[in-house]
Amino acid sequence: MFPNAFKYEAPESVDEAIRLMTEYGYDGKVLAGGQSLLPMMKLRIAAPAVLIDINRIDDLKGWRRVDGKLRIGAMTRHSELEHATELFDSFPLLSRTARWIADPLIRNRGTIGGSLVHADPASDWGTAMIALRAEVEARGPHGNRLIPIDDFFVDTFATSLNEDELVVALHLPSPTGPAASRYMKLERKAGDFAIAGLAVHIALGSDGRVSDAGIGICACGPIPLRAARAEKALIGQPLTEETIANASRLVPEDAEPADDLRGSAAYKRDLLRVFAARALREIAEELHGKVGVQ
Ligand SMILES: Cc1cc2nc3c(=O)[nH]c(=O)nc-3n(C[C@H](O)[C@H](O)[C@H](O)COP(=O)(O)OP(=O)(O)OC[C@H]3O[C@@H](n4cnc5c(N)ncnc54)[C@H](O)[C@@H]3O)c2cc1C
Repeated sequence: MFPNAFKYEAPESVDEAIRLMTEYGYDGKVLAGGQSLLPMMKLRIAAPAVLIDINRIDDLKGWRRVDGKLRIGAMTRHSELEHATELFDSFPLLSRTARWIADPLIRNRGTIGGSLVHADPASDWGTAMIALRAEVEARGPHGNRLIPIDDFFVDTFATSLNEDELVVALHLPSPTGPAASRYMKLERKAGDFAIAGLAVHIALGSDGRVSDAGIGICACGPIPLRAARAEKALIGQPLTEETIANASRLVPEDAEPADDLRGSAAYKRDLLRVFAARALREIAEELHGKVGVQ
């Protein structure tokens, strides 16, 4: 399968990339890891006249701490975050999520920025970013802006990004107290997109009660969703069996799954409930050692 003919540009700076995006408008398409865009071009679902390859822009790679937040460059590969040992303690959800994405070949090329902009409702990164309350840093011809993740996904394969805006980084707030997280995903076979998935991030206050709860739902709606009702039920509570059972029951209420070949909507709702209970129990056990949660 061959894509349509296209012109190729390879800018070496963010400014140059934005200039090219502005110049070509809808005819141009940014190429990051190519793991979603290239298959679409080969299937002729996408046929951009110009590819703007951002792989040579060093400013978009890697991560650093800025103002108490972790700033992850948009061109950071899934596999880099999977193996980022220095982030295992403070942001364990990154590695726990990355290892679930596709297979090692795709993880070596695919990027966190590309995954978010592609906006697949089954995006594992989208789901984890909801749990971590990320902000997306976008840069366009008129400067930078930060987009809260809840405002970023608009519809299936659609974001609030303007056509001439490049995602340059993600910003993740650092946990305020002891924190733990889990990523749970059911696949039809290893490396598949999720039938249903769940990202859970919990931080505790000095009183041992939940001070921050972030829960993202994967593949159960038009976009990655937030389990807001369950989050609210957790805040201010100790992580007891009762709290866990109550919050887990609420997770499916914010999901909008559809019946399809991978399972019925009812099955996916039940999966989410089971995943939530399992994730919260594991988190309680992990944090118990840190702060004595009962
Ligand atoms: C077989 C297969 C299995 C997969 N399984 C999974 C899975 O289990 N879970 C999962 O989450 N994903 C999965 N993926 C998708 C994979 O994670 C892709 O890497 C990801 O969706 C796109 O990232 P990319 O860097 O490859 O982006 P590209 O394919 O290069 O680009 C994707 C889109 O984003 C735009 N774009 C890219 N970067 C930017 C930027 N910085 N600013 C503005 N626009 C940008 C491009 O123009 C394009 O429209 C799978 C893909 C394949 C082929």
